[in-house]
Amino acid sequence: MTGSIIDRKKTAAELAIRLEDESWCTSYAFRTRWPQGFVCPACGACHPESGFQNKTLCRACGRCSSITAGTLLHGSKKSLSIWLRALWWVSGECSSFSIMKLRNYLGFSSCQTGWAWMKKLRQIIELVNRKKCRGITLVDAAPARGPAQGNQLLVAVESIARGRTTGRLRMKLYQSLNQKIISQFCTDGVAGGSIVIFPRRKPFTSIHLQEILCTVDESSSSHEDIEKICASYRRWRRQEKSRWSHLCCSQDLVEEFCFFHNGALTADRVDIFETLVIAALTSQSAGLGDLTEMQAHPGAAP
Ligand SMILES: [Zn+2]
Repeated sequence: MTGSIIDRKKTAAELAIRLEDESWCTSYAFRTRWPQGFVCPACGACHPESGFQNKTLCRACGRCSSITAGTLLHGSKKSLSIWLRALWWVSGECSSFSIMKLRNYLGFSSCQTGWAWMKKLRQIIELVNRKKCRGITLVDAAPARGPAQGNQLLVAVESIARGRTTGRLRMKLYQSLNQKIISQFCTDGVAGGSIVIFPRRKPFTSIHLQEILCTVDESSSSHEDIEKICASYRRWRRQEKSRWSHLCCSQDLVEEFCFFHNGALTADRVDIFETLVIAALTSQSAGLGDLTEMQAHPGAAP
């Protein structure tokens, strides 16, 4: 990844040790969120001279903001070190998320705490999954099975070399499909300038997208590629059923499958970790009116 803040000469093991150091985590998180220096989330004033600290006072508006103010981690009482170690754990998992393993890794005894953390981590994973497919992208639908039976699974996947390998994957469950839903799925999931290959059937054949060239699969090989992905998902889903995941909602599992598929395209665990940190710290989760932590005096910020 270009612009990486982490020293790439460090090995993954050395990075894991650094994540135990709260001051290093503060500096790393600060530079990830504000690479050009502190920008007040409340008033937008820039303070390039500010140091790497967890709580920064804005001299323009007098408010104090933490590194996590307004992000997905907003309001958390847990240290940055624990959050970053949780994301490091996520980056190292390659086929399933076990709440038990997460609890052991972070040292939580409570099962409820483990579930609460997993819920937040899933939100971050969902953000990472939003990265768009590019280039030639196959789009098709398949009937969902198992608990989501009756729904339709829409699939978009970059086609690197047909029949041999696939690139970035996006999947989403819908109760029913129509032209509008498929168009929105493509607009959200495929970058402008790409080529989308649809199956030769309604309503796909009547869809036109802005900045994306739509074509129809003449050979039905695209459909076979998508079928292989769906079959792979169903196999993975059956395996997961025996590991607590029957308690998760079906879309959560779809997101997990996409995360593991897309993670396997990236050889470097540090890359996956940085992508997760960026998603966690640069996403906006709270409106300005919700940033109650910034209304207080500096000492009261979390
Ligand atoms: Zn300000």
